[in-house]
Amino acid sequence: MPSLNPDTNACIGAGICTNTAPTVFDLGADGLVRLRTTDVDTNDVPDTDAAIAMCPAQALSWSRS
Ligand code: SF4
Repeated sequence: MPSLNPDTNACIGAGICTNTAPTVFDLGADGLVRLRTTDVDTNDVPDTDAAIAMCPAQALSWSRS
């Protein structure tokens, strides 16, 4: 499973990811995306994929490196 790569420089704090995959994403005190886990459970992958697709800032991606 690749890891997640949130781009806090691109994030605009819209919070869609935290609503879509709340076990994976959180918002920090600065209002920008944080990861709740670096080890995404297989059951959470569909919601994570949906959050990545819906992020208006395209700030979320799987890291394959
Ligand atoms: S949906 Fe995108 S822009 Fe909104 S908080 Fe999540 S990463 Fe940031």
